[in-house]
Amino acid sequence: MKPSHIEHIGIAVKNLEDSISYYEKVLGLECYAVEEVKDQKVKTAFFKVGQTKIELLESTDPEGPIGKFIEKRGEGVHHIAFAVENLENALAEAEANGIQLIDKQPRKGTEGLHIAFLHPKSTGGVLTELCENKAG
Ligand code: ZN
Repeated sequence: MKPSHIEHIGIAVKNLEDSISYYEKVLGLECYAVEEVKDQKVKTAFFKVGQTKIELLESTDPEGPIGKFIEKRGEGVHHIAFAVENLENALAEAEANGIQLIDKQPRKGTEGLHIAFLHPKSTGGVLTELCENKAG
């Protein structure tokens, strides 16, 4: 599938405002978007570092995926997202290689991306997101 770059790194945080302040004040990055994704029960904040983004994820519900992650493992890196050219093909390729898919079909993510997750059980413990930017 040959990803072109790391599209973003998803980081689970307890408090979006506190974390934004760290990335802005200490790292000197600029938060350029805050977006709530209702069906994932998260609020996200984005920063750009070159071609790669940092996506901070704060849970809006303790029962949501990020709420459960933080409960179990605490704050920290949640997933790594690779940019691929053709997500359908990439998913088919992963499945053909015996990788367990969380999303069998691409779905809509933040920023108009089409995304799908691979299960950390078959990726060496790293929740892996593949994404395709349909807008180019
Ligand atoms: Zn992501």
